[in-house]
Amino acid sequence: MLPEGMILEPIRERRAERRVYYRPDGYPTLPLRADGLFLQHYLSKGFALKSPEGKVKGIRCPLCDFVTESAFGLQSHLRKHINESKKEVK
Ligand SMILES: [Zn+2]
Repeated sequence: MLPEGMILEPIRERRAERRVYYRPDGYPTLPLRADGLFLQHYLSKGFALKSPEGKVKGIRCPLCDFVTESAFGLQSHLRKHINESKKEVK
């Protein structure tokens, strides 16, 4: 029980909110701060919250939405899917 007059407050969420932005050329960023001023700052820099349609120059993975800049990057990404499917076969 709480002493009379005390109000139970939720513990403040200290972890900063983060999200992925999209550069004007369509490439996603790493998760960046997304609270108030940061969001405004990134948007004013030309970053978007959604990938601009048809502007992605990279190679898109046929199995998921992952985009990479090179064939080598796609190859190493696809290895992840191959490993996943091997586990499912077991
Ligand atoms: Zn993929």
